[in-house]
Amino acid sequence: MRPTHLHQHRSPVACIVPPDLLRDIIRNGTEEERWAAADTMAIDTTFRTLRAAFAATVAATKVAMLPMGGQGGQPQRTIYDQKNSTAIALGTVARTEGQPAVRDAAVNEAYDGFGATYKFFWEVLGRNSTDNAGMPILGLVHYSTNYANAFWDGQGHMFFGDGDGRLFVRLTKSVDVIGHELAHGVTQYEANLVYQGQSGALNESMSDVFGSLVKQYAKNQTAKQADWLIGKDVVGPTLKPALRSMKAPGTANPYDKQPANMDKFVYTAADNGGVHINSGIPNHAFYVAATAMGGKAWEKAGRIWYDSLRDAKIRPTSGFKAFARATVRQAQMRFGDTSAEVDAVRAGWDKAKVKM
Ligand SMILES: [Zn+2]
Repeated sequence: MRPTHLHQHRSPVACIVPPDLLRDIIRNGTEEERWAAADTMAIDTTFRTLRAAFAATVAATKVAMLPMGGQGGQPQRTIYDQKNSTAIALGTVARTEGQPAVRDAAVNEAYDGFGATYKFFWEVLGRNSTDNAGMPILGLVHYSTNYANAFWDGQGHMFFGDGDGRLFVRLTKSVDVIGHELAHGVTQYEANLVYQGQSGALNESMSDVFGSLVKQYAKNQTAKQADWLIGKDVVGPTLKPALRSMKAPGTANPYDKQPANMDKFVYTAADNGGVHINSGIPNHAFYVAATAMGGKAWEKAGRIWYDSLRDAKIRPTSGFKAFARATVRQAQMRFGDTSAEVDAVRAGWDKAKVKM
């Protein structure tokens, strides 16, 4: 059973908007909101079915696009215009690396968001793109019609919908959402956390952590100045003010049910075992650790979390406890056994009630 299980989740379709949230809106929203949520859910399901065919279609293109050299510091971005299609092929090339801005805002936002994300990983963590070997960064915008989601397909493509205007507006508008999707690629190439249960929630949390750090780095904010919200610029009126909050999980919008600690851990079969819900727990641990350390969150806490994602003891099925232990170990190695940074990391997991 186990190898099959792992295989199923090796290349997950990892999205920013959880299916439960859509289900909840279908139950409790206004008629227009219910239609928008149902449409997005239907497209998500269809895409999961078609994904294998899509991978085969674009495989040839990807080979032709491999980077020329191994040197880092330069992203290789291509943005495709899907022209509202759900067809399983790459759309029209709208902007490639080095080309000036075009008239389409979604194309430029994806291009710039990828640039900010690449810059963060390169300048702060010395990482050269998702695979750390200069992998091209491919964005597909205007995917489907009124599609209220964005996702990493597990095969190197990031898809962005235009939103329905009520739940979400254009999904390229928040740099943390773009960072979130690209970070799914980084996680896949490192710990390859299985997108199910605790390891899945950890996978989601890594994307929120790095997505938030990309935003904080671009704005040059301290941990104290940062809003710690995810998706503030992509939510429509129904989900204002944001999709998630790392500072106060469960309070980002009327539908936000994220727990902030293990006492409130949600056991559910939905959403791959609540991956977008229980991610609130490690998200909050990071927030507490980063603010306790002070300064810029990427300088110490971000580095510790990144080192932990690459820690030899972290396996695809690792849960919160294993990851918490890795962060303490990495903080000890980098800052010393009795350092304030180690205390801050412990305080974070303590607040999230994750026992080590
Ligand atoms: Zn995600």
